[in-house]
Amino acid sequence: MARSRTHAFALPAALLLGLYLVVLLAPLALAWAQGLPARHWRDELSSALALLAFSGVLVEFLLSGRFRTISGQIGIDATMRVHQLMARAFTVFILLHPFLYVTPFMNRPLPWDETARYTLGLTPTTFLTGAIAWIALMVMVVFAIFREQRSGSYEGWRAAHGFAAVVVAGFGAHHTLEAGRYSAHPWLWWFWILLLAVAAATLIWVYLVKPLLQLRQPFAVRSVEPLGQRIWELSIAPEQRPLDFAAGQFVWLNVGHSPFSLAENPFSIASAPADGDHLAFVIKEAGDFTSRIGGVQPGTRCYLDGPHGHLTIPGSEVPGIALIAGGVGIAPVLSILRQLHHERDERPIVLLYGNRVREQIVYADELHDMQNDLNLQVENALAEPPPDWHGHRGVIDADLLRTILDRPDAKAWRYIICGPQPMIEGVEKTLLSFGVSSGNVISEQFYYD
Ligand SMILES: Cc1cc2nc3c(=O)[nH]c(=O)nc-3n(C[C@H](O)[C@H](O)[C@H](O)COP(=O)(O)OP(=O)(O)OC[C@H]3O[C@@H](n4cnc5c(N)ncnc54)[C@H](O)[C@@H]3O)c2cc1C
Repeated sequence: MARSRTHAFALPAALLLGLYLVVLLAPLALAWAQGLPARHWRDELSSALALLAFSGVLVEFLLSGRFRTISGQIGIDATMRVHQLMARAFTVFILLHPFLYVTPFMNRPLPWDETARYTLGLTPTTFLTGAIAWIALMVMVVFAIFREQRSGSYEGWRAAHGFAAVVVAGFGAHHTLEAGRYSAHPWLWWFWILLLAVAAATLIWVYLVKPLLQLRQPFAVRSVEPLGQRIWELSIAPEQRPLDFAAGQFVWLNVGHSPFSLAENPFSIASAPADGDHLAFVIKEAGDFTSRIGGVQPGTRCYLDGPHGHLTIPGSEVPGIALIAGGVGIAPVLSILRQLHHERDERPIVLLYGNRVREQIVYADELHDMQNDLNLQVENALAEPPPDWHGHRGVIDADLLRTILDRPDAKAWRYIICGPQPMIEGVEKTLLSFGVSSGNVISEQFYYD
């Protein structure tokens, strides 16, 4: 069944963490195993930070490569969060690296100092490559942290971020291999070559192989229809092969551009696999691309990167399903509900659907009608309700969540949450405080880099 497809090759969190630590710490172990005489503790700390940070920086390529083996179980949002947080840590390590050394720099090692214990071998070239990598990393991370405050397109930022990453890796590799006291040893040298090859292969995969594969699976726009206040339904159909996906997943969608361009945006698929080959999206106007969505012409060529995402229908061992959607977070939830409807799933299902105003509620009739065929309870909440509103007033809060949590088996239910970050955090906190285990709560946020 579709629901198992997402996890086919995805590694569990514990294994990923183990592999990550092994790769991160391997250069330290390989340096220590060389048994070189110890230098001043500040020199050793500086080398250790640089070794750690450089292996981490190279692994960052893998983390941002949208590999389902990595993100399939933990979620691509969690993967990107690790990418961002670790980048900050590595930047601090590299920032400190040149300033910690107490040993004097020398153009060439002294003849009697074969283990480079009393001098740091640093030629003008290795100094320059180190300085370029150092500056590029600082600029890249500062720009990433303050991206939201800057003007300019997201695609432009992505291109600059990718270019700076290549500069850091390339110049950093030269500096590490040529100037590093420990990296000159064959073990560590080969370790770096291997990791650099993995980073390069990631770039080739992302920017060359994947677009080539996308060319072989084109889609075309079928229709674009208004659904609600600044919300549209985009429907696309395969020109050749349909997409194999599970209800609740998302894709990076490229509408009207070459697959080699960076013009693509992540959107959840709102249709269900059982709906047929076409894919429907619920798109809210939010910026450059989305505010022009209403003008997209039928027939426009599209390419997809995906499917991604881990919001999927739980197996039959789960006694009930709570779907909690805020605003356009309804998209993956719709896909799940539509699939459950096709399967005539008999489990109790509750949908809590929060919006600001009534005009933002989409597919109200379809959701209402599904209650006839499914054991489904739909609860709408409006933060700014009109006077004649009969649903819940306010946001999705603990009171509303109690409508689900009052059931005897509520702790064993699966809670699927999608919407704005503050809503996700609030709901997760409430669920955990009611004793629901974190393993039964899955969420996806619509915002990350
Ligand atoms: C997993 C996921 C699923 C999503 N599903 C939906 C959905 O079903 N319906 C919906 O309306 N919105 C969805 N979004 C949000 C949607 O992707 C953004 O609103 C959209 O990309 C904005 O693009 P823009 O060009 O209009 O605006 P911009 O001004 O270019 O971007 C606004 C913000 O959107 C994000 N963004 C833009 N492009 C990308 C990109 N290529 N990769 C990652 N983030 C990007 C960035 O945070 C950016 O700051 C989803 C987001 C994610 C991460």
